[in-house]
Amino acid sequence: MAGLTLRNIAKEYGTTRVIEDINLDIDDGEFVVFVGPSGCGKSTLLRMIAGLEDISGGHLTIGGKEMNDIAPAKRGVAMVFQTYALYPHMSVYKNMAFGLKQAKMPQPEIDERVRAAAQILDITPLLERTPRALSGGQRQRVAIGRAIVREPDVFLFDEPLSNLDAALRVQTRIEIARLHERLGTTMIYVTHDQVEAMTLADKIVVLRGGNIEQVGRPIDLYNRPDNMFVAGFIGSPKMNFFNTSDLTTDGAALLQGQADTLGMRPEHLLPATDGALVIAIPDLIENLGEYALVHCQTASGTGFIAKTTDMDRFQKGVEIGLTADPARMHFFNDETGLRIAR
Ligand code: ADP
Ligand code: MG
Repeated sequence: MAGLTLRNIAKEYGTTRVIEDINLDIDDGEFVVFVGPSGCGKSTLLRMIAGLEDISGGHLTIGGKEMNDIAPAKRGVAMVFQTYALYPHMSVYKNMAFGLKQAKMPQPEIDERVRAAAQILDITPLLERTPRALSGGQRQRVAIGRAIVREPDVFLFDEPLSNLDAALRVQTRIEIARLHERLGTTMIYVTHDQVEAMTLADKIVVLRGGNIEQVGRPIDLYNRPDNMFVAGFIGSPKMNFFNTSDLTTDGAALLQGQADTLGMRPEHLLPATDGALVIAIPDLIENLGEYALVHCQTASGTGFIAKTTDMDRFQKGVEIGLTADPARMHFFNDETGLRIAR
């Protein structure tokens, strides 16, 4: 088990800087998720922690030890990749045992570890098969098993669920959460999926363009995003943004002189009895039974979404005034993108 520190971590490929100046503390036993759009530098950062990429600048420690120049195998980390990276000609058992054999561990101990990991992951009946004879979900379990048997101080996951179908993604996500509960080992998990970030993380790190946009507990990022990027990235459907021309007189008065944009999440928009902040014209209603997503336009033509369990109040083409609890409103400066505290 180990915590990590990243101090002024930077990465350049030739003259292109892809990681700017990352400072981050990861506690021992913490589940940290790096989330952000494709190309923002998540994998690069993870691979620098793993030792698969050189660190161009700054200092990395794991368990208090400087790791910049330590070989991957000596860092006490084990990585799980999106593509599983299994040896196709070896059995599941041999895939899981391979790294331990390389490290010259005695066979009885290897056997014990492989069988224990197989049990945790419920793949004991598959041990003699080759990866070819496994489903995607089973392959990913083997890849996770291969990481578990190494008993690493830190698990690193790079989009481990991206190749799985929707149902299996949810199931495997829950298994990874349970695995963390059970082992208590530090885990760093990369994804572009904010649902995975929200559900798995003790701490989310939102990245964009090689920079950290915000670090915090999932619920804090949801309730108090520091800026419009995080506000738009965390939550689904995404937060609606309104400027003065989208709002009623009452709505615009809230912004007066202080903020350019009012953000309200789809699930926080409610039909108003009086004092509507925004007038909605529903143009498409997606009723999922449990709730409906009401796709609307403002009179000025801005599209937005209301998420409601009060389906009967909304009708296609019929104007409706909406409001939100003041505690659920977010104010932003357009130029800086930053949240304005109220
Ligand atoms: P993510 O995992 O968030 O999608 P990556 O870490 O893979 O993003 O990539 C971050 C940026 O670094 C991207 O702009 C990508 O094109 C660039 N990049 C990644 N690997 C290399 C490389 N070997 N050479 C040059 N640029 C790279
Ligand atoms: Mg990536």
